[in-house]
This record gives sequence, structure tokens and C-alpha cells, in this order.
Amino acid sequence: MRLIDIHSHVNFNVFREDSDEVMKRTMADNVGQILVGAQYDTSLRAVEFAEKYGDGVWAAVGLHPIHLDSFEVDDKEIAGDVKGFKTRPEEFDYKKYKELASHKKVVAIGECGLDYYRSDKKEIQHKVFREHVRLARDVKKPMIIHCRNAYDDLYQILKEEKGDEVGGTIHFFAGTWADAQKFLDLGFHLSFTGVITFADDYNESIINAPLDRIMVETDAPYVAPAAYRGKRNEPLYVEEITKKVAELRGISYEEVAKATTNNAIKLFSLD
Ligand SMILES: [Zn+2]
Repeated sequence: MRLIDIHSHVNFNVFREDSDEVMKRTMADNVGQILVGAQYDTSLRAVEFAEKYGDGVWAAVGLHPIHLDSFEVDDKEIAGDVKGFKTRPEEFDYKKYKELASHKKVVAIGECGLDYYRSDKKEIQHKVFREHVRLARDVKKPMIIHCRNAYDDLYQILKEEKGDEVGGTIHFFAGTWADAQKFLDLGFHLSFTGVITFADDYNESIINAPLDRIMVETDAPYVAPAAYRGKRNEPLYVEEITKKVAELRGISYEEVAKATTNNAIKLFSLD
């Protein structure tokens, strides 16, 4: 594989009409992807897609912190032209998720984490995130972690629950370089989205993080990179993010592509 998009949501409804075409053109272009669930139904669909499409497609299962609460999400800045949606509150069922997580195509637990930007229900978020860390340790798979405005609490919970035993990635990394160093020291990876192609806020982390600890991802359908701004994002655009990392670090595109692909293979034990 020339690249691996470690975080896409082609399993979401926004791709319902043409998911097959999107999956096929991604695979035809030799780009791998991890399909990430945000609730039980989308986690299940991620596993079904990974089974159906086979080589180069894997799944992650988890309950996203925004789905612990009920509200409208209409985040133009993040979503571009992707329509807003209403969250569907779900209770975390450890047993059900564990069963799904044990599937051989499931390579990570997530997305899970903390989101104080969208919800102030901290207590339930902490409880459910702790359960995800336990689940990851239970099935011995790394985590794909979502975090907005909550890096200190996230770090504390990861330490307390021994999240470093399984590791994982801080997806859509949007913290400071000081935040980044704490997670790197704890053994975690950082992954970057298309937001780095139109915002400079993360440059310090992209430049300073060890090359063997960073990965690239689209978070499709959200945050299309600059060249596709306002459009629905898709896994193939991970190339734009890879280019930007290379430009910022002053090294070749090939070097970044090779390193980030290898990092993903190693972290998620991809076969
Ligand atoms: Zn996501």
C-alpha cells in the first residue's frame, strides 16, 4: 500500500449512495483504510465493510463521546458542506462492543474519548472513556482517541487506566506541542487530518514529533483538505495531508508516505 488513511467514515450514511464506488476507487489506487465506528450501528457496518472488501480495509469499533448526549451538530468549520446531524444518545454496552471488538478485522478500539467542546457532561464521558480503555486492554488492541478541549483529563485517565499498555493514536490531533509531548512520552502516536492544509496551528507538533510516531488520516466525510475544501472528503485525499506533512518537515513525499504507512501497519498490526 502506498498510503493508509487510518481514520475514515465511509461506513456513515453520508456515503450511503456511493460507498461501493468510494471503497473501490480507494482500493484501486492502493490506499488502505481503517473504517471507524462512532456508535454501535456504524461500528457494526465498519466491520461488515472490512469483511466485504477484504485486503487493505480494516475496522475500529467504539462509542464517540458526542453520542452520550443529545444535541444538534452543525459545525461548518469542521464539516464544510456536510450537513449537520442530531446525535443519537446510546448507552455503552461493554459486552456487545467486546464481542464486536474481538472480530479479526477489528484493529482498534474507537473512536472514543472526550469532547468538552460539544458537551459538558464530563462525568459520563469519563466513565465511558475509562470503559473503552479497559476494553482495549481486555482485547489487547490499540485505541483511536477523539479529544476536543480535554487533553489534560484525557491524559490523566489514560495514565490511571494504564492505556499505555495498548497505546494508540490521538486522532485529529489539535492540541499544543506541549500536549503532544505528554502523549508521545506515554507511548501514543499522533495522527493529522486535512485541517493541517489550511491551518498553521499544528505545525510545531507535525515538525517536531518523531517520524515513527505520526500518521495521516482524512476523517472523511469531514474536513476535506484545502484542494477540496467545501466538498465531501474521501480516503483518497489522504495524499494531500501526506504532501503537507512532507512540506512542513522539509523531507520528500515518499519518505513521509513510507513512514506513516509503516507506522500504521506496526501500531495496528495490519496484515
Ligand atoms: Zn472520526
